[in-house]
Amino acid sequence: MRVSVDRDRCCSSGMCVMNVPDVFDQDDQDSLVRLRRTTVRPDQAADVRLASELCPGGAITVVEDEPGPASA
Ligand code: SF4
Repeated sequence: MRVSVDRDRCCSSGMCVMNVPDVFDQDDQDSLVRLRRTTVRPDQAADVRLASELCPGGAITVVEDEPGPASA
């Protein structure tokens, strides 16, 4: 799973940073969101999805991994 942010939509609420600090950070200068990583570990996926849903600016986009080939 991958994540991206639109800093033009971020309103600096800091909610994502509080909830998933390993993935999200805030810029020291303008307090807008910054990403620490764009690839999300499986154990962080649920928290990042929730951060995207709760973001008041709608600034966080989650891109789910394509399903792999079905095993027989
Ligand atoms: S939750 Fe959304 S609006 Fe708040 S800091 Fe994170 S990206 Fe910005």
